[in-house]
Amino acid sequence: MPALPLRFPLLAAALPHGARPLSPAPHADPASTPGSSRFSGEADFLDATGQPRRSRSAADLASRETAIARHRIVIVGGGAGGLELAARLGDSVGRDGAAEIILVDAALTHVWKPLLHEVAAGTLGSQENELDFLQQARDHHFRFHLGRLESLERAHRSIWLAPLVDDDGMEVAPRRPLAYDTLVIAVGAVDNDFGTPGACEHAISLNNADEARRFHRRLLALCARAEMTTGEPVHIAIVGGGATGVELAAELTGAAGEIASYGRELRRLGLPLRISLIEAGDRLLASVPQGLGRKAGEDLAARGVDIRVQAKVAEVCADSVLLKGGERIAADLVVWAAGVQGPEVLEKLDGLVTNDRRQLLVRPTLQTTVDDDIFAFGDCASCTPGPDDKPVPPKAQAAQQQALLLTRSLQRRLAGKPPLRFSYRDHGTIVSMGPEQALGEVRTAHGRRYVLRGIRARFGYWLLYRRHLAVLVGAARTVLVTVGHWLTRRAHPRVKLH
Ligand SMILES: Cc1cc2nc3c(=O)[nH]c(=O)nc-3n(C[C@H](O)[C@H](O)[C@H](O)COP(=O)(O)OP(=O)(O)OC[C@H]3O[C@@H](n4cnc5c(N)ncnc54)[C@H](O)[C@@H]3O)c2cc1C
Repeated sequence: MPALPLRFPLLAAALPHGARPLSPAPHADPASTPGSSRFSGEADFLDATGQPRRSRSAADLASRETAIARHRIVIVGGGAGGLELAARLGDSVGRDGAAEIILVDAALTHVWKPLLHEVAAGTLGSQENELDFLQQARDHHFRFHLGRLESLERAHRSIWLAPLVDDDGMEVAPRRPLAYDTLVIAVGAVDNDFGTPGACEHAISLNNADEARRFHRRLLALCARAEMTTGEPVHIAIVGGGATGVELAAELTGAAGEIASYGRELRRLGLPLRISLIEAGDRLLASVPQGLGRKAGEDLAARGVDIRVQAKVAEVCADSVLLKGGERIAADLVVWAAGVQGPEVLEKLDGLVTNDRRQLLVRPTLQTTVDDDIFAFGDCASCTPGPDDKPVPPKAQAAQQQALLLTRSLQRRLAGKPPLRFSYRDHGTIVSMGPEQALGEVRTAHGRRYVLRGIRARFGYWLLYRRHLAVLVGAARTVLVTVGHWLTRRAHPRVKLH
């Protein structure tokens, strides 16, 4: 059972009511008009043990009937796409009572993943960019349920959430069902280690906040060991020369000097970190124009990063990375950033179809290929908008564009209209090269391309997160949060030392 961090006073609000219909959904026929509710009253529900639920009072029953008479949209996953969708739907159809919006997430807080390399390097405190789902739910007129999607029963239009256990292993809530009229799956991605031996045991991923924090703790522990005993630099191997790997390498080179300034022995080492960036392809940053990839490589090499291209990893060991040619690269700490795939649960969802990367296959409307009432988007879905298009890439900007389209599609669905088709607009890619540097290419609506470098690129990169924040907390609070972060950073060491 997955252990979940819990804040008990808030838990009751975050737990689902565990209801599902006794009989199959009346509009199981995809052609039937969505929007009409299949819920009629208390007797239509089973509790988590399969017994009919009973209300405690007439008033309770009346209020519950009002709640369940509305079309229920359940969104699973409150990441870059899912939380924006919940907020936008909550502010429209949730607020005016046309639908009940429920967001389910396995965590209590939302994290903007593109900042995780900064959390790992310690240049950003992990709590600095977390948003409480419960506060988001209150502010945006949706309900939040804490839980991990475990399975799906399409005939009953229910998802099942895994038992909820606290950090000490105590079961707080049993395995429980949650009914939906429309289901949206946005559970993101996990690392794809392509079955490389040792990767699972010895490499850390940057795909969630816990892993990023774990990396940072290990980094500090290894620096402390270097300071007190070995006197040797800490070796870090980053597998994957895409945006995540390059950004982490750049952030670590900046952090290294700062860390060294706090320890006499570390200072003696010069740069206390030796970083190797290992890429299987023939260049870094395959998703940006070649010149920019080369520039990023030169920049990192000038900062002392050992860059290996066309280097395939054969095995990850406790103290090294073994390359296919037989070369061994020493590594106290290995980060795996070489690709993503859908979480395992997607393969167990009652006949929904996945591709070889475990992503759910969806049509251009973002509906799954086999069920009109189930949508999927973001990193966990594979969508090819048109016959001449490539599949939409797993990027935050794609998830955000899809969230925007789905907001309109689901509003239309409630009015009995067909969903809209998604088309992806690539606005370009900007890669952070440390606290004050970035490089990348932006594309305008007319297809013009502009190369950005230095502080201008850094501003574009910074803007991506601020725009996300503005959707969730509003423009005024975004300014406040930004000023708050700026002040905090000036009052504390530039790198988190604990
Ligand atoms: C280090 C790093 C840097 C990146 N940098 C960039 C960048 O610069 N630009 C860019 O465009 N993209 C970047 N990305 C990619 C970007 O973060 C993702 O494409 C984006 O977050 C995908 O959004 P999503 O909504 O699909 O999923 P996510 O944001 O991953 O959110 C998934 C959510 O689902 C929840 N969840 C997972 N499983 C379950 C379950 N079984 N039940 C319930 N909830 C579940 C998770 O807790 C999470 O809240 C980066 C990614 C990483 C890791």
